[in-house]
Amino acid sequence: MQERVSNIYKELILDGQISLAVLDTTSLVQEAIVRHKLSPVAAAALGRTMTATAYLCSWLKGEESSLYVTLAGDGVGGKISVSGDGALHLRGNVQHPAADLPLNGRGKLDVGGYVGRRGTLTVVRDDGEGIPFVGTSELVSGEVAEDFSAYFLTSEQRPTAIALGVLVTPDGTCLGAGGVFLQPLPGAGEEAISFAEKKIGEFSDISSRIAEEGAEGVLRRFGAGAPSVRGLEFRCRCSRERAANAVLSMGREDARALLSEEGVISVHCHDCNTDYLFDEKDVEELFKSGE
Ligand SMILES: [Zn+2]
Repeated sequence: MQERVSNIYKELILDGQISLAVLDTTSLVQEAIVRHKLSPVAAAALGRTMTATAYLCSWLKGEESSLYVTLAGDGVGGKISVSGDGALHLRGNVQHPAADLPLNGRGKLDVGGYVGRRGTLTVVRDDGEGIPFVGTSELVSGEVAEDFSAYFLTSEQRPTAIALGVLVTPDGTCLGAGGVFLQPLPGAGEEAISFAEKKIGEFSDISSRIAEEGAEGVLRRFGAGAPSVRGLEFRCRCSRERAANAVLSMGREDARALLSEEGVISVHCHDCNTDYLFDEKDVEELFKSGE
C-alpha cells in the first residue's frame, strides 16, 4: 500500500459563493495514535480536533502565525489541546489517552461521551501582531464537528457546515480520517447557506469515504475541478535544545538536587509524548557551557 500523506484541498464552489475544503488527515491521526497510545475513541476525538485545527490553520496569514485550540469538556477524556501554525504543522494531546467507552447507541465511537457535552471550545489565534485573538463557545454535543460549527457561528460570525470523522480499528490503525468544510463567503445568499447545510448531511460517513476513495473522491462529489492543495504534518516544536533550556532555567543547585534524587532529569513534551533525558554528565556540561 502506498504511504498516504495528509493534505488540505480548497476550492470555491457554487459560483464562488462557498469555500469548500476537504481534508485527508489519515497519516496525521495515525502518528498521533502511535505517539500517545490513544484508545480508539481518544483517536477519534483528538483526530477530529486536529482536522478542524488544520482547517483553521489554513486561514492563517504567514507561516509564523500560530493557533491553539482547547476542548475542555466534562467527558472521560479530559482536556484536548491541539496547536498548529501557518506552515500547517500540527501537534496535540489528550489528558486521558487510554480512556475508552463502549460504542454509542448508533454503533459508533462515543466521541461525545469522551469529550463531554458540557464545556467550552477555545481558539487562540496569534498573528504575531499585537494581542492574540481569543474566541470561545459552548460545546454542543462533544462530537467535535457540531462544536466547531457553533464556534464559527457564534465567535467568528461565519456559518460553517462541517463533517469530521476518524475510522480506526480496535488495535489502533487509522484507516481513514478527514473532514469537509463548507463556508459561505461574506455576501453569499441564503441559498448558499442552505445548500451547505443540506450538502453536509451527505458526509456523515466521511471517514469511510476518505478510507475508500480518498480526498479526491470526495472532491469529485462536489464537481471540484482544480483545487489548491497543501500538505499537513504532525510536527512538534520541542527539541533537545529547548529541553536543555528548561533544565538551565532550574538553576544549578536545583538541577543537582533533582539529579541526586532521580538519577536523571527528564523533560517531558506533552504534545508529542517525548522525554528528553539529562544525566549527570549532560547537566554538568550544560551549566559549564552556560557560564
Ligand atoms: Zn514535542
